[in-house]
Amino acid sequence: MKTYDWIVVGGGITGATLAYELIKIGLSVLLLEQHVTPENATRYSYGGLAYWSGTTPLTRQLCQEAIARYQILSQELDADIQLRELDLLLTISADSNPEAASAVYANCAVRPQLVSVQEACELEPLLNREAIAGALTVKHGHIHPDKTAQAYIQAFLRAGGEMQISQVLQVLKGGVQTNTGNYYSANVVVCTGGLSRQLLKSAGISIKVYFTHTEMIEIPPVNLRLHTLIMPANLQRFQLETASTQVDELWDELGNELVSPILDVGAVQFLDGSLRLGQISRVLTNPYAKVNSKESEKWLRTSIAQVLPALGNLPGTWHHCLVAFSKNRLPVIAAVPEFAGVYIFSGFSNPLVFVPPLAQRFAKFVTGKEDEVIMGLTEV
Ligand SMILES: Cc1cc2nc3c(=O)[nH]c(=O)nc-3n(C[C@H](O)[C@H](O)[C@H](O)COP(=O)(O)OP(=O)(O)OC[C@H]3O[C@@H](n4cnc5c(N)ncnc54)[C@H](O)[C@@H]3O)c2cc1C
Repeated sequence: MKTYDWIVVGGGITGATLAYELIKIGLSVLLLEQHVTPENATRYSYGGLAYWSGTTPLTRQLCQEAIARYQILSQELDADIQLRELDLLLTISADSNPEAASAVYANCAVRPQLVSVQEACELEPLLNREAIAGALTVKHGHIHPDKTAQAYIQAFLRAGGEMQISQVLQVLKGGVQTNTGNYYSANVVVCTGGLSRQLLKSAGISIKVYFTHTEMIEIPPVNLRLHTLIMPANLQRFQLETASTQVDELWDELGNELVSPILDVGAVQFLDGSLRLGQISRVLTNPYAKVNSKESEKWLRTSIAQVLPALGNLPGTWHHCLVAFSKNRLPVIAAVPEFAGVYIFSGFSNPLVFVPPLAQRFAKFVTGKEDEVIMGLTEV
């Protein structure tokens, strides 16, 4: 019976990165992922790296570390993660006050610049000038999120890591029970994104990690060119996260819809010409709740067409996934109290910028090095 130092559960960006960093420091690691082909939040993500957005000493420091890490990542992992810089355009709706929209970003490490409707449309000719009162713009990092997760997994396997396609049914003391058998380890770290809360609940562990049902449309490669990454300046998703986490216990009752769904119009084009258009966020406490895909797609397409008329009707496919988040927008990285050897590494709202530096720090931390950042993120 083989016993690993670590079992990492979940092969999205968080699990892939952490598995790699743990093997890199010489530990034996098994990565468990339930699907052969990812159907996760990483797969459907825009891939934006908001390394300008730090508002506290902690988040600013992590953003700086992320820039340094991403710059060498393709070379270190020996795979192209498609790192580049894009103009982010944060659209300000026609009925909003541009100065008020801009003030929200006053504390960011790099404050997005307010531009007029004319300047916004020069940066992004596909924008509908009637739909906006202006925009904010800032340089934004961008990667291909799925290629990055796969690059981490391949580098992990080359370094001697093992991976199994198995669904973890329960976290046990000293390992996990899966649909293909039990696996044993000194430590288990749960990186199952939107399913983290439910998985730990099955072991009687309560954690304050939540999730939205998120919906988007994927467009296969097209000739049309989107120059920028588009998101609204007033992201309703953050308000929805705050409103839905006031009473933690409500998340333990399957069948609740804690707040009304929201739609933040966003769009990005990848280097192969494919597009991701989004996004609806719903707070349904049952992770397996069904949503009406036809109505959702119609809502998405109508809303996208108002801001980016050329994109609303492009042929594409509606997708759904779960996106984890925490109460305070900081990740939940912690040892689970009273469950020795079980850790959680999840709950990132916008994780792509933070995961690489935090996974490196976590790996060092578990080998006994003090780390103020990790120790400061221990709320479970
Ligand atoms: C449309 C959209 C746009 C986004 N844009 C951005 C952005 O621009 N920037 C940014 O930083 N973030 C963005 N995000 C959020 C970000 O993509 C996700 O938060 C992130 O990818 C989550 O990674 P994860 O590893 O935590 O979860 P996931 O990618 O969901 O991975 C979790 C994995 O765990 C596996 N799993 C679950 N349960 C089990 C089990 N019991 N056993 C085994 N395996 C299991 C799942 O199959 C899955 O592969 C976006 C998300 C969406 C949907």
